[in-house]
Amino acid sequence: MLSFATHDTRRLPVRIIEVSPRDGLQHEAVFVPTARKIDLINALSHTGVAEIEAGSFVSPTAIPQLADSDEVFLAIERIPGVTYSALVPNERGLERARAAAVRKIAMFTAASNSFTRHNIKATVHESLVRFKAVIQGAKRDGMLVRGYLSTAVWCPYEGRMAPLLVLDVMLRLLDLGVDEVSLGETVGRASPADIRALLDTVMTRIDPLRLSLHVHDTYGMAIANVLTAWGDYGITAFDCSAGGLGGCPYAPGASGNVATEDVVFALKASGASVPVDEALIVDCAHQFSTLVGHAPHSRLSQIPPARIRQPALKV
Ligand code: MG
Repeated sequence: MLSFATHDTRRLPVRIIEVSPRDGLQHEAVFVPTARKIDLINALSHTGVAEIEAGSFVSPTAIPQLADSDEVFLAIERIPGVTYSALVPNERGLERARAAAVRKIAMFTAASNSFTRHNIKATVHESLVRFKAVIQGAKRDGMLVRGYLSTAVWCPYEGRMAPLLVLDVMLRLLDLGVDEVSLGETVGRASPADIRALLDTVMTRIDPLRLSLHVHDTYGMAIANVLTAWGDYGITAFDCSAGGLGGCPYAPGASGNVATEDVVFALKASGASVPVDEALIVDCAHQFSTLVGHAPHSRLSQIPPARIRQPALKV
């Protein structure tokens, strides 16, 4: 049930954080030409999403797919009301973000030491120490900061993660000054019961409006988890990717990020106010698919265009 909220946040519009240009493309094998990235981000800007994670300022040798993020940020059309964020790993990345006039950065850690060692070559503690100077610098410049907390339910190396461990990392992120926390269900096998156990624990200590859920759909549980988080806990921000772009690094051929269009449809069908046009998202998903060379991983992209839109219901 709603464990933290003193008012029913489900009446608020849902914020969709579109992660395909960053989290999606960095897991694809191909390099999408800069001009096409810019076109797609511009198209996503007109779908109603609240935020677009438009690039990453990690080392270009580590993530060559996003080596052009500086150029992308300086060229995209910035629509009022849409936030354009970038992943920043360190102070060098922050400098690049600043030069590209980025107003919101995202930093990455996890509940699992094995996962952070594998991904960012640091323990969770070391990653948080690294965050400190970056967050201070970002705040000095008036930037917003998002903290990714991955492996919030399952870790591919350590298995099931204890909710209290996730809570501990979340509190450290909040102490460091992040504005919001994105809980990542990285493996994509959590059930609604797992999401309840997680949210029952962490939502005692955070306003639901500062939480986002980032689910993957590897085992087909993502939509059920989104509906649980919204319907039972009043979570109103979800990270997702047009066409489920991004694949899945742990299960080749399986879906990774949950597809934005399916999330929007399911939430609207459940009575949520979601100011996103799912048909326009499907258009973007098809455009991405021609660039990365595989079909979108979503239900809605397989439905005839005339039957895609779900009329919003009242709560
Ligand atoms: Mg993801």
